Amino acid sequence: MDTVLAAFVLLLVLKLTGSIALVWLNLRHTQAQADEVPEPFKDFIELPEYRKSVEYTVAKTRFGIINDVYDAIILAVLLLSGLLAGIYGLFSGWFGYGIWGQALVLFLTGIVVGLPGLPFDWWHTFKLEERFGFNKSTQQLWFVDKIKGLLIGFVIGYPLLALLIFLVDAAGPLWWLWGFFVFFLLQLVMVVAYPMFIMPLFNKMEPLEDGELKDRLFALADRTGFKAQTILVMDGSKRSGHSNAFFAGFGRFRRIVLFDTLIEQMNHEQLEAVLAHEIGHYKLGHIPKMIVLSAASSLAMFAVLGWLAGATWFTEAFYFDPAGGGRLVPVLLLFMLLSGLVTFWLSPLTSLLSRKHEYEADAFAREAMGSSDPLSGALRKLHKENLSNLTPHPLYSGFHYSHPTLVEREEALRQTDPG
Ligand SMILES: [Zn+2]
Repeated sequence: MDTVLAAFVLLLVLKLTGSIALVWLNLRHTQAQADEVPEPFKDFIELPEYRKSVEYTVAKTRFGIINDVYDAIILAVLLLSGLLAGIYGLFSGWFGYGIWGQALVLFLTGIVVGLPGLPFDWWHTFKLEERFGFNKSTQQLWFVDKIKGLLIGFVIGYPLLALLIFLVDAAGPLWWLWGFFVFFLLQLVMVVAYPMFIMPLFNKMEPLEDGELKDRLFALADRTGFKAQTILVMDGSKRSGHSNAFFAGFGRFRRIVLFDTLIEQMNHEQLEAVLAHEIGHYKLGHIPKMIVLSAASSLAMFAVLGWLAGATWFTEAFYFDPAGGGRLVPVLLLFMLLSGLVTFWLSPLTSLLSRKHEYEADAFAREAMGSSDPLSGALRKLHKENLSNLTPHPLYSGFHYSHPTLVEREEALRQTDPG
């Protein structure tokens, strides 16, 4: 077997094995504690609810494993049989090797490659989430969401792809550096544009209505020097019973978004604590830090793309015709499908940084609220309502979790508590 193909198979097997081993460890760890509510959670959760969270974890894990294996098989078939190269060749025959034609070919091939994943997406929403009472979406809404996503992807992605293909020819050997600048600029624009223009296409975003809660939250924003222009409420309940809050944009365009489900679940003091946590992310500069990190990783990705686009061995190994007209698109396609096999192993690093930010934002919220109790209460409620796994295996949460576990967060909150 060709060395490149052998390396691909090795990477695929390594990722699948690593991912399933972690999941299996996590499942056993959680099930071993399923009989009674562990000590740290006894105060706020009863056995039937706790059991339900374990059941949810088990169901999600089983689904995840089947999905992982399925994805790996699809990927192996696409690449080892030459099917991907075949689809690319077919579309290129129709749309040609010009800039706009190749951009379209990439887009369409991407859609075809994404099709096998759709049944799993559907099952996740209408079987798994439905079974635990989280799904609020309808088949029609689900379908419309997919179409909308595709259209938005096309409007933004199509010209960008064309520009990238143009750069390969026009900008010389350092095209990838130009590509990175274009891409990074788009990322910056999207940080602001996504919550302002794209999210409203999927959800209603309305300013928090006048009343005690609004006064209270704005008072907090003033007190912490955040000077909120608006706090938005998003109708997350349209699709899911899961609750959340997040921060988006930066500078003048910053906004805080609370899910309507969150407002329903929490009392005002807890909501204030959640807002304080989100303001913490802003005040502590977590957004620019994440932007810098993502820029660094995009730069690395483009450097790899530049290197791969200059070599023929890479695309030839996966049966792309070396005499064919396209140069960049086969590389992009392969890159899209393969990069996950490598970046999977980097996720502990990004998770670690993300968790560091969460601890910092928690400490900020505790400071702003004058006590750790409101945030602690809010976190307990979030975990309980979302049926979060309360007892993940440390290796699993260390690898995958962007947020520390409830126990870890409460412990850290207590440690910094002055009272
Ligand atoms: Zn956070």
